[in-house]
Amino acid sequence: MIVNAAVPNEFNALRVITLATDATCANRLAGALSSMGVTALTNAQSLSDVQTWLVEQPVDVIVCEIRPGCDDGLMLPSLLKGLHEAGTVAQLPSIFWTGETTLNAQVRAAEEDGVVSPHADTQQRWIKHMGGVAISALESHARLARAAGILVEILREGATLELGDALRAVVLTRAKPDPQLHMTTFDALAEDEVINALTTGEGLRFVFQPQFELLSRRVVGAEALVRWKHPRFGEIPPSVLMPLVNRLGLDLLLFSLVEMWSIRAMLALKRENILIPIAVNASAKTLCTPHFADRLATRMQQAELPNRLLKIELTEDVPEPDELHLSASLTAIRAKGFQVSLDDFGTGAATLNLLANLSFDEMKIDGSFVRAVEQHSSSRKVIAGIVSWAGLLNLNLVAEGIEDESTIPLLHRLGCRVGQGYALARPMEIEAFLSFLIQRNKYQ
Ligand code: C2E
Ligand code: MG
Ligand code: MG
Repeated sequence: MIVNAAVPNEFNALRVITLATDATCANRLAGALSSMGVTALTNAQSLSDVQTWLVEQPVDVIVCEIRPGCDDGLMLPSLLKGLHEAGTVAQLPSIFWTGETTLNAQVRAAEEDGVVSPHADTQQRWIKHMGGVAISALESHARLARAAGILVEILREGATLELGDALRAVVLTRAKPDPQLHMTTFDALAEDEVINALTTGEGLRFVFQPQFELLSRRVVGAEALVRWKHPRFGEIPPSVLMPLVNRLGLDLLLFSLVEMWSIRAMLALKRENILIPIAVNASAKTLCTPHFADRLATRMQQAELPNRLLKIELTEDVPEPDELHLSASLTAIRAKGFQVSLDDFGTGAATLNLLANLSFDEMKIDGSFVRAVEQHSSSRKVIAGIVSWAGLLNLNLVAEGIEDESTIPLLHRLGCRVGQGYALARPMEIEAFLSFLIQRNKYQ
């Protein structure tokens, strides 16, 4: 298990259950959690023990090791869903899956674009596993659980979230019952700190992740992403920050800050004759702000930059109930020459609907399909299908979350021309991003 440093007493109000059948595993999990400062800790030996605990008292987190031959961790989301639907458990705990990660060889028949050829030779591929289960399969299962309202985090080496970050996420987003108000309230302190960060800029940083043409490795764009260092808790992942920002209605303020930093980057690159678009994430609610397209155009005009350099990525974290309004906003934005991208295609509840009814310049294939591309022929078929839709709809396509160099030729064969991911480049601070591009530009 990965452990990162904790602030003293940071997690001592969290109520945590470990799910482990044997004592060695239970002790390992308890050791890692205690060293982070978790004190309210109980071990459950089976799913029925978990059920008993959940019915008796509120639980914030269930930590479970994924191990060969033990399905309990995988069954947890359906257990929680059932208890919640039956009204037995009011507040759903988060689930953390952890375990030893290994690279296992998989031998299978060679195939072309997801179709097995009866005459083909066999191929050997190295697939990442956690406790005997392919990470891509765990990711699909976690995605389904999240769609059902159960937060599942996979804690593994090299991933964005470590144990301390994941516990922090629970502390910051946990709803607490307020007996005086007879309702649940959120952590007011965390909210004040988010307001302070966004209004003063304290603790906020903006990083840039390049996007590459897969064949030539030319940088063809970049995405701007926010980072927040909490005064007490340290680095907070956007998966925790964004729900707080949205709940507080600060999404437009955040957008403006990211836009400002992106314009700074564009101006520095323009001085070097590098003209690549930078994408800024925005929810449908942000895009539906009155006169949004005019605001964007004014800012770009003041900076003397062409509108085509700014791309807007529509995220699906806050759905827009008024599709007509969203359609009007997107059309106005595109009419001014800004590019619009549909983010995380394939995961949101309404992505197909959005694609059918609204017009975009680009779609981004969600990383969960990309990461499963080597292992699951179904993911290859989904990607091949998305590639042909993009062709039919005349959209550019970006494959996100490319973690393994070995998947790049396969993605290219499937028709993906542009990609983004740790295997190509990690998100970088603005200075590193600028020098990375300037250096490459000199030698290209
Ligand atoms: P997204 O827009 O899909 O951004 C891509 C996310 O994938 C980023 O996570 C990035 O760091 C991560 N990523 C890039 N390459 C890889 C890879 O190879 N493997 C893996 N596992 N992940 C990779 P991040 O920065 O944590 O952001 C998560 C989400 O939070 C973003 O997803 C976006 O929806 C939201 N977000 C981040 N920054 C902002 C922002 O400034 N404004 C808004 N509205 N949303 C933001
Ligand atoms: Mg994005
Ligand atoms: Mg995305």
